[in-house]
Formats: sequence, structure tokens, C-alpha cells
Amino acid sequence: MITLFEKEGHKNIMFSDLTSGYMIQANQHIIIHDGEAMILDPGGHKVYSKLFAGLSDVASAKNLKYIFFSHQDPDIIASANAWLIISKAEAYLSELWMRFIPHFGADEFVINRINSIPDSGTIINLCGVELKIIPAHFLHSAGNFQVYDPVSKILYSGDLGASLGVDYDIVENFEDHIKYMEAFHRRYLPCNKAVKLWVDMIRQLDIDMIVPQHGAVFNTPEKVKSFIDWIEWLPCGIDLMKDEYKIP
Ligand code: FE
Repeated sequence: MITLFEKEGHKNIMFSDLTSGYMIQANQHIIIHDGEAMILDPGGHKVYSKLFAGLSDVASAKNLKYIFFSHQDPDIIASANAWLIISKAEAYLSELWMRFIPHFGADEFVINRINSIPDSGTIINLCGVELKIIPAHFLHSAGNFQVYDPVSKILYSGDLGASLGVDYDIVENFEDHIKYMEAFHRRYLPCNKAVKLWVDMIRQLDIDMIVPQHGAVFNTPEKVKSFIDWIEWLPCGIDLMKDEYKIP
């Protein structure tokens, strides 16, 4: 459990070591304000019990107000039903994925607590703090959102900024870190156009940290700037396609 920010009843917690075995490493996050909590991208069934224990250490489960799903992938959302059963929390998910989630097995008596987020995003009020739910479609999922916390100035970027195979939680040297991000972004992002639109939007925010769902955290405004400047010009997805389609 890593405390990324703590001040006057506001706390941002990250778990980086709850995944195991063949699972892709994934971070889970909790934002707490005056005792009320929101979990972000809680992950799958095997992570659920460990994250539940972690939540109990920092906030009571009955004060779990919100569950945020950045997109529809299993490492984000597979435990949705369990979280909705043990809490009274309201969950939030892109409107694009609302009818896919029941395939993970969401019971009928909890499904109406999964709220759809419109393409334009929304604001979620956590005990007086207005968390901005920011559109980041196609980065990488077609219906994809990020969370900006105006108190800690953390941008929870989901799969954007993900790094794979790192043995550290905080990026120390940005140039050395690029090799852990490059292949993922080139393949999982569809094209640079979506990236550039995101960059134009995100530069309007005052960001101290970018905290992805996989790998290490960009924990200073300088590293945030390095990441944004790097990704702005990264060719990816269909930008890189030549003649990949061949009948096997
Ligand atoms: Fe994903």
C-alpha cells in the first residue's frame, strides 16, 4: 500500500502488489475524503479479497461511496458484482459498456447501481470534492475515462502511461522508463490523432502526478510534462500499419 498524497482528511492510496501469477500487473486505487471512499479500477476476483482487506485498513466498507471503472477490461471490472454486493456504492462506467458488464455476472439486484457515464464525461462529488471524470476515448478503449482529483492534483490515467515489467513504483528517470511503456502504447492505442486531442485537453489541467493502472507513477509536474511531451508525438496503432494483414 502506497500513500501518494495525504492532507487534511484527503488521501490517495495505491496498491501495486495485489496481482499475481499469470495476471498482468495492475494497480488499484482508493481516494478518501473525510472518511468517504471511491475505489478505481478494482480488478478481478483474485484481487478482490486483498483489496477489500486494504480498503478496510483505510476506510470502512460502509463508507465506500463510489466504484469507478475506466473501461471494460477484466483487469478493471471483473469483480464488479462482488463490490456491489458488499457495499451500497454507486458504480460508474462508460455508457458503451453497460450491456456487456452483465456477462461478468452482475446480479439483478445490484445492476441498477451501475451508472452510465455519457461520452462527454461527468463530475462525481466525493464528500464535497468534485472529481472530474474526463473523456479519454480510444486511449485505449472505445469508451474510456480518466479521473482528475483537484485536491491531490492527481490524474488517474487508466491504461495511458502504463508500463510493464518495471520493478519500481515511482518513475525515477523518465528516459530510462520509456522502454517499459513503448511497446504497450504503440500496440494498444489506435492512432496518434486520439492522443493529440487528449494532450490538447489535458494541458489545461494543473497536474502534479499521473497515476496509471499498470506500472509506475509519474510523481512530479516535471515527469508529468515529460510523459505528455513524449506521448504527443508517438505514432501508434494504425499509424504504424503497413502490410500486417495476410491470410494465414
Ligand atoms: Fe485495458
